[in-house]
Order: sequence, then structure tokens, then C-alpha cells
Amino acid sequence: MASAPDASSRSALIPALEAVVGRERCLSTPEELLVYECDGLTSHVATPTAVVFPETTEEVQALVRACRTAGVPFVPRGAGTGLSGGALASDDAVVVECSRMQAIRHIDVENRIAVVEPGVVNADLSVAAKPHGLFYAPDPSSQLACTLGGNVAENSGGPHTLKYGTTTDHVLALELVLPDGACITLGDASGLAPGFDWVGAVVGSEGTLGIVTAMTVRLEPIPERVETLLAIFDDVVSACRAVGRIIESGLVPAALEIVDQRTIRAVEDSVYAAGLPRDAGAILIVELDGPDVALDAQIAEVQTHCRADGAERVEVARDETERTQFWRARKGAFGAMGRLAPDLYVHDAVVPRTALPEVLAKVCEIGDRYGLTLSNVFHAGDGNLHPNISFDRRDPDEMARVIAAGEAILRTCVEAGGVITGEHGVGSEKSDYISLVFGEADLDAMQKLRSVFDPERVCNPGKIFPTTRFCAESNPKARGYDRVPFG
Ligand SMILES: Cc1cc2nc3c(=O)[nH]c(=O)nc-3n(C[C@H](O)[C@H](O)[C@H](O)COP(=O)(O)OP(=O)(O)OC[C@H]3O[C@@H](n4cnc5c(N)ncnc54)[C@H](O)[C@@H]3O)c2cc1C
Repeated sequence: MASAPDASSRSALIPALEAVVGRERCLSTPEELLVYECDGLTSHVATPTAVVFPETTEEVQALVRACRTAGVPFVPRGAGTGLSGGALASDDAVVVECSRMQAIRHIDVENRIAVVEPGVVNADLSVAAKPHGLFYAPDPSSQLACTLGGNVAENSGGPHTLKYGTTTDHVLALELVLPDGACITLGDASGLAPGFDWVGAVVGSEGTLGIVTAMTVRLEPIPERVETLLAIFDDVVSACRAVGRIIESGLVPAALEIVDQRTIRAVEDSVYAAGLPRDAGAILIVELDGPDVALDAQIAEVQTHCRADGAERVEVARDETERTQFWRARKGAFGAMGRLAPDLYVHDAVVPRTALPEVLAKVCEIGDRYGLTLSNVFHAGDGNLHPNISFDRRDPDEMARVIAAGEAILRTCVEAGGVITGEHGVGSEKSDYISLVFGEADLDAMQKLRSVFDPERVCNPGKIFPTTRFCAESNPKARGYDRVPFG
């Protein structure tokens, strides 16, 4: 970490930031900063020193240099929809919010690529590409709000990851402002740049290697035909079995998403209501896309597989309106859970698909054991679970049970051969759990790579890597959980 700044450097910081972006694009009063004390993980809060809104790469460079001069770290931020505390302003950092860098600089239809700035909202890129018969495939459920800069940093996935891959499969080149203020280009538009895969290193690095100021991404042709099926099951475990059966058959659906009963009811009580069957134990959404001639046979096959695992009904969306409604219900599910309690802890872990039925049963048991309201809505095709715990963080006892249940869920997933995050990142939330999946040598190698970009740890400090290192692993009291019985 950089050495602590003296008071005079700090007091010079705000005027220096304002000199770059003007007063209007530099927030520094307590009321203004309150909004930026957390991202989508509301249990972790820290007040930034200032929040600045650059509009150009040159402004980002100047802001980074001003922070360096003052000895203050900085945190890149997009829309703040992250769910692992990645945009938390640790160590009194300055938040560099890139949401105003919104230009879609170029769409190259012939080569199916776009050059975009980090503040472009995910869904807006597909809207812009649509007249050309193209779309941007990675589609986080937050896609109406989250930005492409945040997606790159988190290597975001979404319902269509099963067929199309995560963000890393769609980024060809990056413009990156390094923590010393220099600006570099990594990769190139061909996707075949020689040497190390530096783009791959930056995608998923959670804003710890620099600030992405532009990216070149792949666009995909809009499929000729899309069909969305809704299979209705008595319970979530049967739905998981059907997922295994569909994949085993060799089909590659565009999406396989499961929504459990508690979520269905929350959705149906909300503005996202789509006429989902309230009495169903779980629904499985299956999306198939591709050439027109191929889909009828695939629909019939999916129906057969779902019935074999006990689906009562397997409906095909009658038209585009119904299809959109199903997806609105699925993508609005987290929002709908706001009806259940003031706070929501959206967990994110991955297990091998074959372990889904067994792990899901254990996850539900953990929720019951800790007396919590737990619901599941997840990317089943990827084995990517999202156990969601609805709670009230003002109740310290409930808060402690939420954290303990979260740890029990992570351990269960790792024991089943899984990992601690599928798409939301490690952030500040899971940094103390990373040693569940990586050894000391692995973490040292990662830290060395980080040092190449950011030797003084001034860019998004306190993320990914354990703060208490292995001591928290062996001593849960180090995280203050001593009042909670561990399962
Ligand atoms: C309702 C809901 C549903 C969600 N569904 C999904 C889903 O299906 N799939 C999924 O993957 N995620 C999902 N998320 C999580 C979140 O939306 C993603 O992680 C998203 O990529 C965050 O984007 P953002 O612009 O909000 O980034 P932020 O939250 O602002 O930042 C996230 C991280 O990116 C870094 N960052 C931001 N901009 C830059 C930049 N220009 N350069 C370098 N680093 C940067 C930040 O430092 C931070 O570490 C969901 C969140 C919500 C609230």
C-alpha cells in the first residue's frame, strides 16, 4: 500500500480533482457521498473521500495522477450494481465513477465488433446493434442498469452464458489507465494478438489492475428463431435433475434457468408478475435458439426430458410478448424479493451440474437450520447457484445468522467440487474465503501479477485477496462470528 498521505496533500486533493472535472462532477459533501457508501452488497459500507465523474480517458488519467500525488487510493465504479462489495471505497479511496463515459464509438457490422466506453449500459449495446441484425451476448440480469466496464471487471455472466459464454469470451481489446496514470492498449480487434493474454488477465480482475476506459467487443448475429419453454415441477430438485438430463442428451440450450416456489410467489406479487403458476414447486425456463428448421425437434426433445423428471406441464411461450414476460419475471426476481424483507443477500457459487440436486437440498437445509428466509433463482445450466437470503440488517442476530449460513453454503459448494463465485466476483465480500479454493502459492502468484500493474496497491485496495490471510480460515472469530454455531 502507498504510504499514508500527509494532511496538506489530502486537503489539496479535492481542489485538484475539481481542477480536472469541475465542481459539478466532483462530489465531496457527506450527504453527496452517502449514496456511494456501498454497491449492491449493502452489508459492507465505507465512505469515499470524493466521487468523481470523468467523461474522457484523459480526465481519468489526470484524476488518477491527482490521487497519486495526494497518496489516496482510488476505486473504479460503474453503476454500483455489483453484489460483492467490489466498488467499496476502502481506505478512504476516491471513487472514479465511469458511468458518464457512454459513447458507442463504432459498430463495425462487417467484422461484428463494437468499440465502446465503459459507462455504456449493457442492454443499450444490443439496442444499438439490433438494426444491424446483431446483439451483445453477455446479459446479466441487471443488464438494464449495469455498465460494460463493471461487466469486464467482474467477468459477468447471465442467463445466456450456457451457450454464449461469459464476458471474457466477448472482449477482444481494452484501453486501460494504469495506476500510475499511463494509458495502454491490450489485445486487438482481431482477437489474435500475439503473446500473453493480457485482456484475459484484466477481465475478471475486479478493478484491481487499472481503470478500463474503452473496450472492443464481439457482437453476435441475432438468431433466426428463439423459443422459450416453461416447465413446471413439484420441487426444485426434480427441476435440477431435468437440467442434467437435457445437457446429457447433447442439446445446447441458450439458457436453462430455475426459479423456486418462494421466488415465484414474490415475483407474482410484484410488478414483474407474468402469470407463473403460484402453486408450482419450481419452474425451469429453457430457451432454444438457432436456425428455424432445427427448433421444432429440439422443443419436443426438451419436453420429453422434462416430463421424464416429473414436469407436470411444459409450455412454449405463445408469442414474443409472453416470452418477454417470462424473462422479465426471471430478471426481475431479485427486485421482487424486496417484498420479502428490507435486505437481500444474493449469494453466488458454482458446483458441477451433476451435484446440483444434492447441493440444492443441502442449501435449503442450511436456510432452515439458521432460521432464515432463503429462496433460489439461478443459472442452472452453468451449475451457478444464487441462494438468496432475505433479512433485516438492523437485527444483529439475524445478520450474524446470514453470514454464518453464507459461509456454510460456500463450504458445501466447495466440498461438492465447486468454487466460491460464479459471476459476482470476490470483492470485499469473499476475500477471506478465497483460500478455500486457492493455496498460498496460487495467491502469491496472483499478487505478483497484480504487482506488475499496481505495485503500490492503490487501485481498488482490499479486494479479492484475504485481509486476514489464512488466520480467518483457521479462526472464524477473526471475522467476529463467534456468537454463531457453525454447521
Ligand atoms: C438485480 C441484479 C441482478 C444481477 N444479475 C447478474 C447476473 O445475472 N450476472 C452477473 O454476472 N452479475 C449480475 N449482477 C451483479 C452486477 O450487476 C454485475 O457484477 C455487473 O457487472 C456490475 O456492473 P456495474 O456497472 O454495476 O459495476 P460496479 O458495481 O460499479 O462495479 C463492479 C466492479 O467493477 C469495477 N469496475 C467498474 N467499472 C470499471 C472500469 N471502468 N474499469 C475497471 N474496473 C471497473 C469496480 O471497481 C468493481 O470492482 C446482478 C446484480 C443485481 C443488482
